[in-house]
Amino acid sequence: MVAQSVSADLQEAACRSVEEIGPEMISFLQALVRIPTINPPGENYIAGAELIGQQLKDFGYDTLYVAAEGLKEHTAQHPRVNVLGRREGSVPRPSLHFNGHFDVVPVGDDWTVDPFSGLIRDGKLYGRGTSDQKAGIAASIFAIEALRRAGIRLRGTVEQSGSVDEESGGFAGVAYLAKQGWIGKDKTDYVIITEPSNVDRVCLGHRGVYWFKITTHGRIAHGCMPHFGISAIDHMADFLHNVTHELKPELAKRKTAIPVEPPGSRFASINVNSVFGGQPEHGTQTPCVADRSGAIFDRRFLSEENFEDVRGEIHAMLEDLRAKNPEFQYKIEDLMIVHPVHTDEHCDLVTSLSGNVERIFGRKPKLTASPGTYDQKHVVRIADVKQCVAYGPGILDQAHLPDEHCLIEDVVNAAKVMALTAMELLGVEPDPGGARQGKR
Ligand SMILES: [Zn+2]
Repeated sequence: MVAQSVSADLQEAACRSVEEIGPEMISFLQALVRIPTINPPGENYIAGAELIGQQLKDFGYDTLYVAAEGLKEHTAQHPRVNVLGRREGSVPRPSLHFNGHFDVVPVGDDWTVDPFSGLIRDGKLYGRGTSDQKAGIAASIFAIEALRRAGIRLRGTVEQSGSVDEESGGFAGVAYLAKQGWIGKDKTDYVIITEPSNVDRVCLGHRGVYWFKITTHGRIAHGCMPHFGISAIDHMADFLHNVTHELKPELAKRKTAIPVEPPGSRFASINVNSVFGGQPEHGTQTPCVADRSGAIFDRRFLSEENFEDVRGEIHAMLEDLRAKNPEFQYKIEDLMIVHPVHTDEHCDLVTSLSGNVERIFGRKPKLTASPGTYDQKHVVRIADVKQCVAYGPGILDQAHLPDEHCLIEDVVNAAKVMALTAMELLGVEPDPGGARQGKR
């Protein structure tokens, strides 16, 4: 049950305060965009964490920096530093945790504006990481501050984290915070990950991922007498043929009932990330039969598919080839397994967010799921927090593109949704008369 229904005039006061704080929020976003926190390799993380940390501190949070000690990617050259802020209400629970990753993907080509200048033009703020997802970080921090400035005191507790490495799996970021207990079911009730969701979508979860590597083995021989050898590449070709002509058509028949966006991703799928084998492309070529070949696969599976069946299907295909050809030697290794996650659309968090999206935009949000994974997996699997979604102002299609931008209007509106949702979920202390006068 949602903690509290909030009166219309309190909601109005909150929204007005978000409007007022808008210019300050956008300046903060510009400052954050100007720090090139590029991942890989993970540049300027300390500067990124400190900018967020300082802002949280100024807004009355207890702040803490959490370096991913003990992880191999946390190095002197590229330290992995996350930042956490906590502002306890009059009670520690319920608690609402906003998380946003402040790493951004490399710039790439074809930009027509400086990707790190924070340029504003025609109501858009440009820069790498604006939509994905520094706009989300700015929105959640200033949403809560807007409440404070309006004299609205939340009963429950707000936490905000800026985390690293989402773009490379989030192991030194949200996964680390969850493993260390900073996000966890014994202290956290709700998590909103502020990833881009086009301002009027609520993303409930994502499909599963199974990355695996197959190595085929043959026997080396002279290339002018290949009949003395066994080609590992031929073996790989046989397997790839079956993937393309048997497995792919089969997977295309499996459709999830979950509203994954884009709809083309509602089907199970497999992609070959890479194929290698024989002699290195740029080495001196000598006539040899390849005794080793390999390929890496990316299988995306649905909530409706059982992971053991997904893996078993691949094993069965390999065994089938061996049954037909005893010389077919192979090895299979699991590289990454991420199970699908899907938050119940009837839970308090989704109900409250949805109601407030409708309040601000006059239409119900689209409840979606993501074709790819993001940090929600760590919140659900490691922290065991069931009520976790992604909601934020960025434009999903802008993620990772040249001339990435977000709409300033969206940042303000998403902050309103976040502020109203925090009031509902955490409750508001009775107001001694300050809120409606915009007490500071
Ligand atoms: Zn992102």
